[in-house]
Amino acid sequence: MEPKRMWEKLTESIFPSSIYCICCGNIIDESRPYALCNDCMEHFRWANEKTCIKCGKLLSENNMRDICHNCQENIHYFDRGFTCAQYGIYEKRVIFNLKYKKKTYLSKIIAEIMHDRMLLEEIKYDIVIPVPIHRKRLKKRGFNQAELIAKYFAKLQNKPFNNKCLVRVKQTDLSKKLNPEERRLNLVEAFKTSKYDEGDIEGRNVLVIDDIYTTGATADAISQILKNVGVKKVYFLSFVAGGDLIK
Ligand SMILES: [Zn+2]
Ligand SMILES: [Zn+2]
Repeated sequence: MEPKRMWEKLTESIFPSSIYCICCGNIIDESRPYALCNDCMEHFRWANEKTCIKCGKLLSENNMRDICHNCQENIHYFDRGFTCAQYGIYEKRVIFNLKYKKKTYLSKIIAEIMHDRMLLEEIKYDIVIPVPIHRKRLKKRGFNQAELIAKYFAKLQNKPFNNKCLVRVKQTDLSKKLNPEERRLNLVEAFKTSKYDEGDIEGRNVLVIDDIYTTGATADAISQILKNVGVKKVYFLSFVAGGDLIK
């Protein structure tokens, strides 16, 4: 590696968050909350208005009910979902910078946002669990963003973090044409609890962390698995939530 690039890499990992906007990359004042520039901050659709009482997604202003269309039509296995913002172009950039540009330090800021979001809720839970990824994907990407976020988040919330009890045993093939029921079964088979660590979660309430919530299929599959081994309540917290994306 050239010395210049190495220096850039080093400085990036030491104090990047207070210099660049986590969304557009513009230079910002260190004191900006969540390291977002003024413009990006204004464009973020924070989930601090009317949200679905089941999944936590932002509801449109003309929605007369307190539940989203998806939750009206589908049974969800998790108890409640929470999110920080709606998945739009600005929010997408942050996820992209973290996941594909590998700016892993963003997980810390995302965790802070999620921590502040949960300060508004009064749910009681015992353990923080990240949505696991398959070991092949982990090898390819080098990290699991949900795990990085969950680790910082758990520290901020002063709760135990557990990345052992739930594992992903199958990578789901998104190109396969499956009907909704087949897709559901496919996802349920993709996760497993580790027999050795089940004792840590039995009879407990858990908060599952992911970067994105879409249709709730992943959250449902995980909730079913966790409840099968005696987990009492499963809550789901994502950084962003959106309707029609495929993860
Ligand atoms: Zn910005
Ligand atoms: Zn909903």
